[in-house]
Amino acid sequence: MTPSHRHLFLPRTPGPRVVEFPCPSCGRPMDAGFLVAESYISGVKWMQEKTKLALGGDPIQKPDAWGNVYIAGLRCTGCRLVTVRY
Ligand SMILES: [Zn+2]
Repeated sequence: MTPSHRHLFLPRTPGPRVVEFPCPSCGRPMDAGFLVAESYISGVKWMQEKTKLALGGDPIQKPDAWGNVYIAGLRCTGCRLVTVRY
């Protein structure tokens, strides 16, 4: 996790690396990391419904020069739940 993303989910005080958000489903600590997708054109976007060729939607995150999209998020492996911040 890069320093620029640490503040999104981790407390600013020094000490053990503790995620400040428990899983909303089971309450256990969530792992901080990145949801990564590959997209060379429009990046990641939000859609309420699937569309033909995935046209439309609200942009969430643009891809980098290598076509990878990184979105900071939290994961609970027990519930198979991922939450992301954009
Ligand atoms: Zn959970």
